[in-house]
Amino acid sequence: MSNAARFVKSLFLFELWQGLGVTLRHFLFVRKVTLQYPEEKAPISPRFRGLHALRRYPNGEERCIACKLCEVVCPALAITIESEQRADGTRRTTRYDIDLTKCIFCGFCEESCPVDSIVETHIYEYHGEQRGDLYMTKDKLLAVGDKYEAEIAAARGHDARYR
Ligand code: SF4
Ligand code: SF4
Repeated sequence: MSNAARFVKSLFLFELWQGLGVTLRHFLFVRKVTLQYPEEKAPISPRFRGLHALRRYPNGEERCIACKLCEVVCPALAITIESEQRADGTRRTTRYDIDLTKCIFCGFCEESCPVDSIVETHIYEYHGEQRGDLYMTKDKLLAVGDKYEAEIAAARGHDARYR
């Protein structure tokens, strides 16, 4: 490019207008890829693994039989279980904690559970503001399970692994 041409382009801010043209083209004609979160949500995979929940049977009984398979299989050592035998001879947990700050959401716990008790939901909108907020105790996990049971059961109905 000659010096004269470069001077003219510089004088009329050619590259600036060129850049604004790109902006205008995208503004008017290109499909937008951004979402107005949280009003708009991106689709998530049916295999997405989010917040954990402990489930109950329809009669209200906890599914968990305290076999501790999930605790053993957890690669992050995020699960802590304590259990005791009831008067009727069944075994149930007295403590079931998941430390979400350790969890890597691998899904091994739910894969290993023989009674489909510990599950990972689609929920990703949760946070902690204080120390301990992301330490999920049995009560918290059961509360999540109780709240989303219909959704969890429906999702498992579509998943051949849980029939
Ligand atoms: S998802 Fe993986 S890391 Fe998290 S609690 Fe379950 S087994 Fe452990
Ligand atoms: S959640 Fe499932 S795998 Fe874990 S202790 Fe209870 S029954 Fe066993």
